Amino acid sequence: MSNVYYKSTRDDSLHLTASQAILQGLSRDGGLFVPDHMPRLSVSPKELVSCGYREVAYLVMKEFLTDFTEEELRTCIDRAYDEKFDTPEIAPLVQKGDAWFLELFHGSTIAFKDMALSILPHLMITSARKNGITNDIVILTATSGDTGKAALAGFDSVEGTRIVVFYPKDGVSPIQKRQMVTQPGKNTKVIGIHGNFDDAQNGVKAMFGDRALEKELAEAGFQFSSANSINIGRLVPQVAYYVWSYVRLLAEGAISEGDPINVVVPTGNFGNILAAYYAKNMGLPIAKLICASNENKVLFDFFRTGTYDRNREFVLTSSPSMDILISSNLERLIWLVAGESAEKNSAFMRSLAETGVYTLPEESREKLSDFAGYYTDEAGTAESIRDTYRECGYVIDPHTAVAAHVYRQYRKETGDATPTVIASTASPYKFTHSVMTAIDPKYDGVEDFALIDELEKLSGVAVPRAVEEIRSAPVVHKDTCEINEMQASVKEFLGIQ
Ligand SMILES: *Cc1c(COP(=O)(O)O)cnc(C)c1O
Repeated sequence: MSNVYYKSTRDDSLHLTASQAILQGLSRDGGLFVPDHMPRLSVSPKELVSCGYREVAYLVMKEFLTDFTEEELRTCIDRAYDEKFDTPEIAPLVQKGDAWFLELFHGSTIAFKDMALSILPHLMITSARKNGITNDIVILTATSGDTGKAALAGFDSVEGTRIVVFYPKDGVSPIQKRQMVTQPGKNTKVIGIHGNFDDAQNGVKAMFGDRALEKELAEAGFQFSSANSINIGRLVPQVAYYVWSYVRLLAEGAISEGDPINVVVPTGNFGNILAAYYAKNMGLPIAKLICASNENKVLFDFFRTGTYDRNREFVLTSSPSMDILISSNLERLIWLVAGESAEKNSAFMRSLAETGVYTLPEESREKLSDFAGYYTDEAGTAESIRDTYRECGYVIDPHTAVAAHVYRQYRKETGDATPTVIASTASPYKFTHSVMTAIDPKYDGVEDFALIDELEKLSGVAVPRAVEEIRSAPVVHKDTCEINEMQASVKEFLGIQ
């Protein structure tokens, strides 16, 4: 087994271990950490059909986190994928209609972010110990709704850590918001910003890049890290569930060893679908990666034209976790298709920062042929929820619905009947109003919390613990701030100055 080291998408000369990359989060040059070579799976999926989720996760993650000992990594995995999940399968794969839904929402905050954020704190603490870090780690997070709560739940009361979450004050669902503002834990802070997700993400990135701030923090015994999907420690655990889905399809007899599958991923920051691409690069037989967007269809346009153009109106949709115009993790793909060139990638990213646009040259575009971009508008999303319920008695959330609708379009257009896995990224209980009104317009105007019991009756799926808990929990985080006050709020929370 060869060791994997990490360099930056904007600096080829870096040579960090996995634990160093996890601790740092984002590279100082503003780039993202990427493996210096793509490891291969050391076992064939067929050998894994009788394994549980944790074993599969170990066999995938060990290939990327080569400076972790077996014991360290297995301990992290055991602590992450336990009874916090409401099913021992962790991520069940269920067949509905002509697709397989990979349910990634059985963790403590009922969105797929739990798959990575239940393990990230353990990876982070292990990394700190391995590297002799004595500072407290301050996790700075921008959220479009789901990362925030999942990160808070993961880091709540974890010794040696603090966590600050910024969310767009008017850009998350009422249930997402309640989940965050009721978060207990002395080491947690939640702040609503007067801006959208991109503003939050830019503000956080600016703090990571601020050397003067870094020095001030160090003097007070703190250092920043990131729980956003820019952290390689978020991406690696996500690769595991694509391998897992393939193993489950084998176990179900739906495919034979080596058969190709397609995946459809409702996409925002491009982390989830990039994990699928990493799985493919490890040797998993994924044919097409279908990137599903909502009306913020910057990625659809990018895959169709080779031009990434964020200069457009930002639309608030019923799938808020995909309301993003700057998909951070795309940078890792751009770096790959630009021939793993930090120089070329940096030029694209500079152009993006200065003009909001960049265009890939033809030879890079050709390397994107594994991807297909599609999108769905609000009417299509609602139709997808309604049709899936009527045809299969299965209730899906608006993000998953975007993917399901896109899959229908893709299949109609191409006739491609390859067995297909749809990443099901959130429980419908997180978006009861959108879901219930899609199924029956009579619920329009009824607020989210009032529809929880109705959804239970309709779906036959019990109200998850995560929702039950917040129905009566007191609000503990009331702060809001302007975009230019983000840094000051972090310092205030840490008691600096
Ligand atoms: C975060 C999120 C997405 C988008 O995932 P990315 O990795 O950011 O592309 C989609 N659906 C839900 C429910 C999410 O929470």
